[in-house]
Amino acid sequence: MHLSRVEMTGFKSFADKTVIEFDQGMTAVVGPNGSGKSNLSEAIRWVLGEQSAKSLRGSKMEDVIFNGTQDRKAVNIAKVTLVLNNEDHYLDSDYSEIAIARSYNRNGDSSYTINNETVRLKDIVDLLLDSGLGKNSFSIISQGQVEQIFLNKPEERRTIFEEAAGVQKYQYRKNEAERK
Ligand code: ATP
Ligand code: MG
Repeated sequence: MHLSRVEMTGFKSFADKTVIEFDQGMTAVVGPNGSGKSNLSEAIRWVLGEQSAKSLRGSKMEDVIFNGTQDRKAVNIAKVTLVLNNEDHYLDSDYSEIAIARSYNRNGDSSYTINNETVRLKDIVDLLLDSGLGKNSFSIISQGQVEQIFLNKPEERRTIFEEAAGVQKYQYRKNEAERK
């Protein structure tokens, strides 16, 4: 399984539909300051369910929507789609290509889809749990996270090992069951 494409429309600085293809192996994203490198990594975390506007460098969720420039009007909807190549069926799905999308409208409407079917965020979390691709997994390491591992309390550090060992889903399902 690998991330093969990211499509962004109206997300932060990406006003027009922007498609970025990833080959297998290593991809480096380079560009001048302010060109949108961090916005791209935030777009990926956003689709995976990031709910904290602050960790997306905004003060409210609306800040992810393109808010215009001197010569360009703001837009009303931000949409990001991640396309995963699942030919090896590493993710528990019959599909060999899985498109996960999230959109958010200024009026507060929000939606998540998997292959164009409306789903709950929980369905996305379930699909990706322990796959190494969740929003808090170690496939995305943000600035400051490395030293955090050393500064963490032992219980917090344990969560990291549980995620790496792939046992978090059991804890998550246990919590879900206990809530019912
Ligand atoms: P650096 O090399 O400095 O880390 P970068 O390539 O990571 O730069 P980003 O931080 O991704 O750059 O992009 C910042 C740009 O995105 C800024 O110009 C900022 O104005 C723009 N931006 C952020 N949010 C929005 C928004 N909602 N609408 C329009 N532009 C936005
Ligand atoms: Mg940056």
